[in-house]
Amino acid sequence: MTMFFPSPVSRETQTCRPECGACCVAPSINSPIPGMPNGKPANVRCVQLGIHNECLLFGQPDRPSFCGGLKPNPEMCGNSRQEALLWLSLMEAATRPDQVSEK
Ligand code: SF4
Ligand code: SF4
Repeated sequence: MTMFFPSPVSRETQTCRPECGACCVAPSINSPIPGMPNGKPANVRCVQLGIHNECLLFGQPDRPSFCGGLKPNPEMCGNSRQEALLWLSLMEAATRPDQVSEK
């Protein structure tokens, strides 16, 4: 999945909403995750997402680089988990290989 961020400033100032985990469900991840050797399909809960929607691999070397690069920002995170799931699902659909044409 290709992610779009609004600006470097907002990425640095927004904090992650507790118990959200939307960006660990909606996006596809193409690199291996412990317990998901082929990565994660879109709209599938990552097996490393804990019961409080926290990353069980946070700070560990086997956490995918995709996850470390995905910073909270207002556009993605919205005002609720549902808003975040909707935005991320729309981005996932818009950046599917069969939806991205080369012009
Ligand atoms: S969508 Fe935003 S608030 Fe929710 S887990 Fe991801 S970074 Fe945190
Ligand atoms: S490895 Fe952690 S941050 Fe990455 S998708 Fe899974 S739970 Fe989320």
